[in-house]
Amino acid sequence: MALIELSCPICDADFALGGDEKPGDEVYCSYCGSPCRITADPYDEECQIEEEI
Ligand SMILES: [Zn+2]
Repeated sequence: MALIELSCPICDADFALGGDEKPGDEVYCSYCGSPCRITADPYDEECQIEEEI
């Protein structure tokens, strides 16, 4: 399984997902701890996450 990495919208760090995330899931940046929501299929290269208030 390929490692999925996303860029944190808060601190711009790249962090890896566990591999079973889905669109709409909330993830936490492993660097700054900010909660972020996955806005698209995390297995799509165009996937993005947005800050969760
Ligand atoms: Zn972060």
